[in-house]
Amino acid sequence: MKSVTILIPAYNEAESLPVFFLSLRQFFASQPAYRWEALIVNDGSRDRTGQLIEAFHRDDPRFRFLTLSRNYGKEIALLAGFDHTRTDAVVIMDADMQHPLEVVPQMLAEWERGAQDVYATRYADKTEGWFKRTSSRKYYRLLRRLTRVEIPADTGDFRLLDRRCIDALCQMRESQRNTNALYCLIGFEKKQIFYHQAERLYGTTKWNFVRLFNLAVDGITSFTNAPLRLSLVLGLVVSFLAFLYMVFIIVKTLVWGDPVTGYPTLAVLILLSGGIQLIVLGVLGEYLGRIFSESKNRPLYFVSKESPTAESDPAETADTSSVKSSPTH
Ligand code: UDP
Ligand code: MG
Repeated sequence: MKSVTILIPAYNEAESLPVFFLSLRQFFASQPAYRWEALIVNDGSRDRTGQLIEAFHRDDPRFRFLTLSRNYGKEIALLAGFDHTRTDAVVIMDADMQHPLEVVPQMLAEWERGAQDVYATRYADKTEGWFKRTSSRKYYRLLRRLTRVEIPADTGDFRLLDRRCIDALCQMRESQRNTNALYCLIGFEKKQIFYHQAERLYGTTKWNFVRLFNLAVDGITSFTNAPLRLSLVLGLVVSFLAFLYMVFIIVKTLVWGDPVTGYPTLAVLILLSGGIQLIVLGVLGEYLGRIFSESKNRPLYFVSKESPTAESDPAETADTSSVKSSPTH
């Protein structure tokens, strides 16, 4: 029997989780052809999420949990989840019920047909704000042009990943992660399906402009040197224009003499070149910062609490022994 994990990163989701828990149990019962498991990664929540997931585990040992030592952000929470699953496939879902369980059987069907990464693209409903929708669409178009990574629009983390994809993702240990781009980078047999995204059940989205901006910059700088190249081009263009202007000034002085004028021009030029230098330095700094943080090579997360592992449970060990590949970490 194939085993499948539902992986749920949760940060302050105490309101949504009980509902999700109930519908997941019903769902598991409706799909007896697989051995189900849920792994809830508590990403340093400050509400009752931690207590809830422990209670779920006591109720039903198929619900496992992993509590991280602090809030690391969804990308790292997902990696922690990948590291701690051993099943043949993993389905990633948000805790806020925005991802309908009804889509999962369709994912399983595609997986059975040989797809290794079944990703769900949302129809352009209006469940997300105008700003987030347009900005994310524009951003992915930009990323597509700058890199050779084909990131499909309106697609997030709601997907089924085969064990081989999970193992590949576990090997990518960069600290500033953009998982969405990594899915594309690893390749494998992909299959697109569509779904209607529901409204968030409780609470508000954890994303804000600053977080999205940081994610966007991380995505670009971790996949392409294009901004560095662009700085070079910018420098060349400006230098060339400056050279033309210099020739013009020399000729003008030789032909018409040099009455001291042109203070405004001077001021504008100094400001312009100063600005460009700062931008270029900023781009350099962005890459330098990445080198700095990757070179420290720190552990990406710490686990503060975890549901009892399969090793301590003889019944479960027998079950997982059929899984061929083991996770890298
Ligand atoms: N999440 C997380 N850590 C964070 C922020 C979010 O684990 O620092 C989880 C959150 O609990 C949810 C999922 O990531 O299950 C998606 O978050 P959210 O619904 O806020 O994002 P959106 O759906 O608006 O993109
Ligand atoms: Mg959400």
